[in-house]
Amino acid sequence: MIPRPFVYHAPESLQAAIALLRDHGDQAKLLAGGHSLLPMMKLRFAAPEHLIDLGRIAALRGIELVGNEVRIGAMTSEREILASPLLAEHLPLLVETARQIADPQVRTKGTIGGDIAHGDPGNDHPAVMLALGAHFVLVGPTGERVVQAADFFLGTYVTALEPDEVMTEIRIPKPAAGSGTCYAKLKRKTGDFATAAAAVVLRVEQGRCASVAIGLTNLAPMAMRAEAAEAALSGHPVDGAAIAQAGRLAAEACEPGADLRGDEDYKKAMAGQMVQRALRTALSRCTG
Ligand SMILES: Cc1cc2nc3c(=O)[nH]c(=O)nc-3n(C[C@H](O)[C@H](O)[C@H](O)COP(=O)(O)OP(=O)(O)OC[C@H]3O[C@@H](n4cnc5c(N)ncnc54)[C@H](O)[C@@H]3O)c2cc1C
Repeated sequence: MIPRPFVYHAPESLQAAIALLRDHGDQAKLLAGGHSLLPMMKLRFAAPEHLIDLGRIAALRGIELVGNEVRIGAMTSEREILASPLLAEHLPLLVETARQIADPQVRTKGTIGGDIAHGDPGNDHPAVMLALGAHFVLVGPTGERVVQAADFFLGTYVTALEPDEVMTEIRIPKPAAGSGTCYAKLKRKTGDFATAAAAVVLRVEQGRCASVAIGLTNLAPMAMRAEAAEAALSGHPVDGAAIAQAGRLAAEACEPGADLRGDEDYKKAMAGQMVQRALRTALSRCTG
């Protein structure tokens, strides 16, 4: 299918993009890499009358370290994330995640901001953002606000973004020194969305879990934290029994829908496996 007709805009500044959003209200959609929006338009699940391409706004790209925080422009592509020495050094979890997203064609155009703003529970960045405790900078006609990842994902394709707001930046605190991280993703084939995936940020002190955050992908209507599993691990030795129990608790907490990737029971079982795999790998990467 081809999309319904639309007017294409290519503003060269953030202010111009926001003015267009204000003028056209819910008749307008922002276009980033287009790898989620354009398929939806072709299927006519979305039919915006105005498409506002963010691609010419240079200020929305780039990766920098400010104090202990990594700041990533929303229009930074997955390919740029993969190629970033700064991320390889300070936030390897993000590089490991981007490597498992889709295929090289999608990663060349697809952006981290689009992946998060889309609100798709099958996208990989949202669960990773939850595990990392990220913040998102949202800019609209009345100014800027900063929203925690934990408050951003409200449901399937529903986020805290207002229709006249642009996500400009993703801010991620560097995990504490000595932390181990991992993104473990089960997919049917290269380029597929997750059947189940888990992001783990783990810190161990004197053999015990000093802190842990576990994010889950495609296992509920939106990305979620495995809070019961985190609570069971906290303060305890991270051994085989504790990891197995965390996997069981995470599996119990998730609410996946049945689809081509499997039924609910299978996905829950795979959630448990991915949590265990991510915990074991993160533990092996802890240096504290
Ligand atoms: C074959 C295929 C396989 C894929 N596999 C995966 C996968 O395994 N894992 C995964 O995570 N993703 C996957 N994707 C999705 C891909 O990563 C998309 O690129 C991503 O979901 C959306 O990013 P985008 O830059 O393309 O955004 P777009 O498609 O341009 O936009 C998506 C939505 O976000 C909004 N938006 C975009 N940028 C902003 C912004 N800065 N501020 C506010 N709103 C904004 C748009 O208005 C739109 O509603 C796949 C896509 C395809 C086609």
